[in-house]
Amino acid sequence: MRFTGKAAIVTGAASGIGLAVATRLANEGANVVLADIDANGIATLEQQLLAAGCQGVFCSPCDVSDEDQVQRAVDAAIGRFGRLDIVVNNAGIMVFKPIELQTKDDWLRVLGVDLLGAFFFTKHAFRAMTHGGAIVNVSSVHAVETEPLIAPYAAAKTALVSLTRSAALEGKPKGIRVNAVLPGAIDTDMLWSNPNVKSGQEKIATNDVGKAEDVAAAILYLASDDAAFVQGAMLRVDGGRLDR
Ligand code: NAD
Repeated sequence: MRFTGKAAIVTGAASGIGLAVATRLANEGANVVLADIDANGIATLEQQLLAAGCQGVFCSPCDVSDEDQVQRAVDAAIGRFGRLDIVVNNAGIMVFKPIELQTKDDWLRVLGVDLLGAFFFTKHAFRAMTHGGAIVNVSSVHAVETEPLIAPYAAAKTALVSLTRSAALEGKPKGIRVNAVLPGAIDTDMLWSNPNVKSGQEKIATNDVGKAEDVAAAILYLASDDAAFVQGAMLRVDGGRLDR
C-alpha cells in the first residue's frame, strides 16, 4: 500500500491508461479524483472502485482544456481530502489528417487537451501541493520519433516533454517532482483508432504492443516515494521500440 494517505488526481481516468492508473492507485491506498470529460465513464469506474472497497474515490467531470474546470477539480481534491500529492496528466486526443487538410481548430483542440491541460493542472497543483508532491505527464514516443498524419499530436507531446523539464526545475525548490512517461504502442481505444496502426496491423501484431497496466506501473513508480530522487526524467515505456 504505497499510497495510503495520499491524494491523487488522474485525468483521462475513464478509459485505457488513465483507468489503469486510477484503479491501481486506489488499490494501493490512494484517495483518487477521477477527472475526465466522459462523465459516464468515470461514474462507472467510481461505482466499481467503491464496490471493491476503495472508499476514497470520487468523480470530477472535467474538460482539461478549460482552466476554470481544472481549477475546480484541484479545489475539489483539496476540499475533500485536505491535500494534493499526485497529479497524473494523462488525458489525450489525436487528430488524423494530412497536413494540407489540418485546420487551426484541429491544432487548437489537440494542443488544448494534450498540452494546455497539463499546463493548467501543473499551475494549480503547484499552488495546492503545499507538502510537496509528484506530477507525472503522459507524453509519447511521438515526442521523439513520429509518423504521418499526426503533426498536432506529435507537436503537443514534444512540447509536453519541454513543459516537464521546465516544471521539474521550478518544482524542485517546492519539493514537487515532475516526470514524464513516453509510451509506445499500447492496447487502448486510441491505438486502434490510428489509421497508421490499422494499415500496419500485421507488422505491429508481430512487434510488442504494451498493456495499459504496463504504463500504469511506470507511472506509479514515478508518483511514488521510490522515485524520490527522480526529477525531470523521460521514461520510455515502449518495449524497446526506439532501439529498433
Ligand atoms: P484513451 O482514448 O483510451 O483515453 C483517453 C482518455 O482521455 C479518455 O477517457 C477520454 O475521455 C479522455 N479525454 C479526452 N479529451 C479530454 C478532455 N478534454 N478532458 C478530459 N479528459 C479527456 O487513450 P489512452 O491510450 O489511454 O491515452 C492516454 C494517454 O496516453 C494519452 O495522453 C495518449 O496520448 C497517451 N499515449 C497513448 C498511447 C497508446 O498507444 N495508446 C501511446 C502513447 C501515448
